[in-house]
Amino acid sequence: MNPGKVYLVGAGPGDPKLITLRGIECLQIANVVIYDSLVNQILLDFYAPTAEKIYGGKMKGEQERRQAEINRQMVDYTRAGKTVVRLKGGDPFVFGRGGDEALVLAEAGIDFEIVPGVTSATAVPAYAGIPVTMRDYASSFAVVTGHSAALDSTSPIGWEKIATGIDTIVILMGVGHLDEITRRLIENGRSPQTPTVLVQYGTTPEQKTIEGTLADITQKAEEANFQSPAVIVVGEVNRLRKHLKWFEQKPLFGRKILVTRARAQSANFVSKLVSQGAMVLSSPMIEIVPIDQNLALDQSIDGLSDYDWVVFTSTNSVNIFHRRLCERGKDSRSFGPVKICAVGDKTTQALQQIGILPDFVPSESLGSVIAEEMKDVAHQRILIPRSRIGRPELSDSLRERQAIVDDMPIYDTVKVQGEEQNEMLEKLKNGDIDMVTFTSSSTAENFLNMLDEPQSLMKNVRIAVIGQSTARTVMMHGLKYDIIADQPLIENLVDNIVEFYRVNN
Ligand code: SAH
Repeated sequence: MNPGKVYLVGAGPGDPKLITLRGIECLQIANVVIYDSLVNQILLDFYAPTAEKIYGGKMKGEQERRQAEINRQMVDYTRAGKTVVRLKGGDPFVFGRGGDEALVLAEAGIDFEIVPGVTSATAVPAYAGIPVTMRDYASSFAVVTGHSAALDSTSPIGWEKIATGIDTIVILMGVGHLDEITRRLIENGRSPQTPTVLVQYGTTPEQKTIEGTLADITQKAEEANFQSPAVIVVGEVNRLRKHLKWFEQKPLFGRKILVTRARAQSANFVSKLVSQGAMVLSSPMIEIVPIDQNLALDQSIDGLSDYDWVVFTSTNSVNIFHRRLCERGKDSRSFGPVKICAVGDKTTQALQQIGILPDFVPSESLGSVIAEEMKDVAHQRILIPRSRIGRPELSDSLRERQAIVDDMPIYDTVKVQGEEQNEMLEKLKNGDIDMVTFTSSSTAENFLNMLDEPQSLMKNVRIAVIGQSTARTVMMHGLKYDIIADQPLIENLVDNIVEFYRVNN
């Protein structure tokens, strides 16, 4: 058996995109990931979907016991031949005991690598528009722990030197002792008027900031009931924030937007909203489930060359059809001379991804228009793999033109209601959702049916939809929509949401 290895990886400060390329590589090969509480869960779901995941977070009072357990787990798994990623918030060697863990591995003779990360000590100020060094403002900075031990009489931290010897002081783990920390700095000669900023959940859409001075920041934090995790930044550089703040200026910053799309399809939408600064909650109302033991589909795949046309009306139909094709030991060449029609840009892109350029893309997605634009379809054999609840207009229009149509259901859109949906309902009741988005009638229908009193629950919630039929579903539940995408595209919906909030600030 090959011996395993441990990668001590920095996950970055919160924004999942701030992990390094090397960090992603390690996650992708990991058999086991032991992760800390500040690590963004998205990284685990996305890059290590099949790895065993072990929460290494520590509750108050059990730090020592849990740390010993983590050390033992790293050693045991590696000795059993596993590749272990020890994933820590920020940089593994900036506090958080990364050094101690590496030492344990070194002493046990276990192979390890350190993958540095973007530390919250500089990244969180950066997302708040604060450069830790800056010509004329600061030519030195220090990263200091504000943990209780740092304030003991036995602490080795030279507060008297730091207070005046360092320009920018970044304090981690210090919010609980803000009073003592600021007092210590002032007593040791730092001006009480020094600008001081607190940043909680930096680099995430939940980022919150309080600005003040060494003298008044404690009171301000108390009034706002400000909690950890947060960094404290002390120094003249904080004055730059008013010019350089950028993250909080994003058009959707702080907006809590619910995505109800099936998970398999929501990644692109979620990432577009997040990149505009939104706080996205995901609660899929439907899942796409391929129809099991679909004999008709298998027969049509085996006899694919008997068709003149295959019409794909959605990315789901492309992906599910293609997956089944591969499962039957075939590939895209099986289409041979069969002509392919793709309805919509996304469907075209999905086909391109499996190496197929459609022969024909209609100008609209309306059944009658597609049939008309496909021209001479009389006596042609046409296969339409689609959703079980798809509308019959296209096949009807083709049949009117004497085509021989195989209308083939290959997937179901299944309603989901579980833990996640219940949590979402709770948030809705507490007023923690600003906007709900519906990208299809079925998501709207399932969502609105879940609510006992849609009118009162949705009173202060904005609704954004794609498509007229989705809009109709919303109205049939006695509600009004605020935003509609003028084209059936996610990009367009996101643009319109941004525009909506620009106008209705
Ligand atoms: N190794 C980590 C630090 C671990 S100590 C790093 O390099 O970032 C944990 C402390 O880091 C927290 O108490 C808090 O002070 C700070 N911290 C980590 N992530 C943070 C975030 N997203 N926003 C604000 N502070 C954060």
